[in-house]
Amino acid sequence: MDSPQSLSFELFPPRTPEGAARLPAVVAELAAAAPDYFSITHGACGSIQDGTYETLETVVEHSGVEAVPHLTCVGSTRANIAALLHRYRQAGVKRIVALRGDLPASATTPSAPGEFHYASELVSFIRDTHGNNFQIEVAAYPEMHPQAPNPTADFDNFRRKVEAGADGAITQLFYNADAYIDFVDRCVKAGIHIPIVPGIMPITGYANTLRFCNGCGADLPRWIRLRLEELQHDKEALLDFGLDVVTRLCENLMRNSAPGLHFYTINQASPTLRLCGNLGLRTSVEALA
Ligand SMILES: Cc1cc2nc3c(=O)[nH]c(=O)nc-3n(C[C@H](O)[C@H](O)[C@H](O)COP(=O)(O)OP(=O)(O)OC[C@H]3O[C@@H](n4cnc5c(N)ncnc54)[C@H](O)[C@@H]3O)c2cc1C
Repeated sequence: MDSPQSLSFELFPPRTPEGAARLPAVVAELAAAAPDYFSITHGACGSIQDGTYETLETVVEHSGVEAVPHLTCVGSTRANIAALLHRYRQAGVKRIVALRGDLPASATTPSAPGEFHYASELVSFIRDTHGNNFQIEVAAYPEMHPQAPNPTADFDNFRRKVEAGADGAITQLFYNADAYIDFVDRCVKAGIHIPIVPGIMPITGYANTLRFCNGCGADLPRWIRLRLEELQHDKEALLDFGLDVVTRLCENLMRNSAPGLHFYTINQASPTLRLCGNLGLRTSVEALA
């Protein structure tokens, strides 16, 4: 089984003072697994005050690992995005995850309000204004983005992001490896050869797993849902089961030549580190303690 070429961990800007106080320790613990980078999510509306930049600084200070901001364009303006890009360039950022972002609940079409309607327009804007100074990652949806009318239209829209200049993609979470394998096959047949890195969400609970899957249209296989439902009041047993399921998923992906693994850490070190340990990806024994 091939080791993945890249390992990355996603964080979100803490929403509470307690979360902010915990973050440096979480970052330091996760850094022991030697990720290639930490990515940091960005709230909708391209807000400059949503904590992405501050979290980026925390990552650099407490790990020395490359920090990669997400940049969403929904509801934003060219001037606002230009200001954020300038700030990131000044800070030495080399890679960006470029996204449309989630639409307001009132939206009736996938076209975002503001000066950018889709992520492909944001990718073009970054390339036009900064050339190749940023490596650009985009989102991919092996099980189709929930607002797309059908898989073919969604795939064509994914291709637009690649043609606009994306260097790589990170997928939405999924628990069905065949969806990823099929998506990568379709890319190869369409002449798309950028790395498509699977996004991996550790399983840490019943309600939150259902919520994550429902929120993004990911299929939660019935047998997993039923086992999680049964184990929901036995935290340890649920964590062990979730660890087994996601370890097997990652092993399957690695056997199928996934070019990397991107873990949605939800700002917790232990679930991701246990997975890395199971997969033999851990490089520091101390982080097991
Ligand atoms: C790895 C990853 C990281 C994420 N990080 C964040 C984050 O930090 N902050 C956040 O708010 N959200 C984040 N999200 C969620 C993401 O913002 C949502 O999934 C959002 O709904 C779509 O963003 P996108 O960049 O994929 O949009 P797009 O690629 O623009 O696609 C959105 C929808 O529009 C359709 N579409 C695209 N182009 C066209 C076109 N030209 N004509 C018609 N339809 C079109 C697509 O088929 C799709 O249905 C992340 C998702 C992933 C997978």
